[in-house]
Amino acid sequence: MFVAQVALCCPPVADDDASPQRYRCDSCGNLTRFDVTSTRRTKAFHHYTVGGELDIEEEQVLDEVIEDVACRWCGTSASVRPVSD
Ligand SMILES: [Zn+2]
Repeated sequence: MFVAQVALCCPPVADDDASPQRYRCDSCGNLTRFDVTSTRRTKAFHHYTVGGELDIEEEQVLDEVIEDVACRWCGTSASVRPVSD
């Protein structure tokens, strides 16, 4: 029941997962390879075995801030633009 309450009070930010932000490098035309630097606040179910081994499950992204998106080929974010489709 506790889990259900938490789910109700904190709307999932998972909407973005359906259509992730796409990027394009105007310098080289790259659409598929980027180094993304981001800060995430997540909530997850930590499931330990009695032996102390940890499995992290049901990770939810509560908040995410994209700090930098650099083109993998050019090595810079100077020409990278978000693509809306
Ligand atoms: Zn590039």
